[in-house]
Amino acid sequence: SQKVKDAVLIPRYARINEHKITIGKAIKSFKNEGYTLVDCPENFSELGLKDFCVDRHLPDMLVFHQKTDFHAHPFYLNGNMILQDKASCFPAHVCQPTKGAHAIDACAAPGNKTSHLSALMKNTGKIWAFDLDSRRLDLLKKLTYKAGCKNINPVHGSFLETDPNDTQFAEVEYLLLDPSCSGSGIISRLDHLVDDDDEKKKNGKDADGKTQKERLQNLADFQISIIEHALKFPKAKRVVYSTCSIHPEENEHVVKTVLKRHPDFKLATRESVLPTWNRRGIPEEINGNKDLAECVVRTVPAEDLTNGFFVACFVRKSPNEQAEK
Ligand code: SAM
Repeated sequence: SQKVKDAVLIPRYARINEHKITIGKAIKSFKNEGYTLVDCPENFSELGLKDFCVDRHLPDMLVFHQKTDFHAHPFYLNGNMILQDKASCFPAHVCQPTKGAHAIDACAAPGNKTSHLSALMKNTGKIWAFDLDSRRLDLLKKLTYKAGCKNINPVHGSFLETDPNDTQFAEVEYLLLDPSCSGSGIISRLDHLVDDDDEKKKNGKDADGKTQKERLQNLADFQISIIEHALKFPKAKRVVYSTCSIHPEENEHVVKTVLKRHPDFKLATRESVLPTWNRRGIPEEINGNKDLAECVVRTVPAEDLTNGFFVACFVRKSPNEQAEK
């Protein structure tokens, strides 16, 4: 409804594509255009019409007033910047792929996170980008070409059907998993949160004959299968899971199930999962375990001025840690 749209005015986030331009040069160019670089305010709604700042959590992100329209800007058209919500830039930063590494983006199209991984890897190493949907994969090819990515191998097909023991994947250490989800955190879809019929919908059935509970369960089962498949890659080191959902069923509950079934993996701790981001998981949704909740990241649209998002990172336990069990 209009009420929610008015309440959540997301600023214009622009991820600077370091394949094409440095953040320093981009800043200089925006200043020349008449924008003023300011210290990042606590609340982005305080940004003036011609102000911009470097995001305090993501070093490759510039933040502008919400009314800034960059769709005809040369930097957008030539791939120097990517108009991507701040929270959706979290997963690649959490993944931390190194130069020369081998990585997989399991549910990759349209490829915004793939091109981000590519930028962080400085166009070295290799990224296999899977997607089930050929039209979306075509878009990924176009967008990653425009972004100057040279280390991406797009693959049309289900990630679930890849063989983790295939020799071509022998060195894959980084996996980014951004599977289909309810999308309940996306701002334009937040209307249902203030819908008087919300409770009714929860218990009633939708056109597909499923209750919300059943739909979330189906999504969660799929999300868990994607994570479990990723954990089978022999050298998997950092496996990042994300959703743009606000439902614990797709977030903390999924993580809880995977940890229970895979004692050889644990969650990466806060120190390597956006340590400066203060909104973490909901302890009550993860066995009341505050330590586990600290390891994961959440965003809340009305308060963080981003889409609603969730990120967790699974890491393999060391042989010593595994022996302790
Ligand atoms: N990561 C993308 C980005 O940032 O641009 C967005 C990914 S979107 C949330 C989920 C994608 O998963 C969809 O494009 C969908 O076609 C794809 N998908 C669903 N099931 C899949 C599967 N089994 N294997 C690979 N891709 C799948």
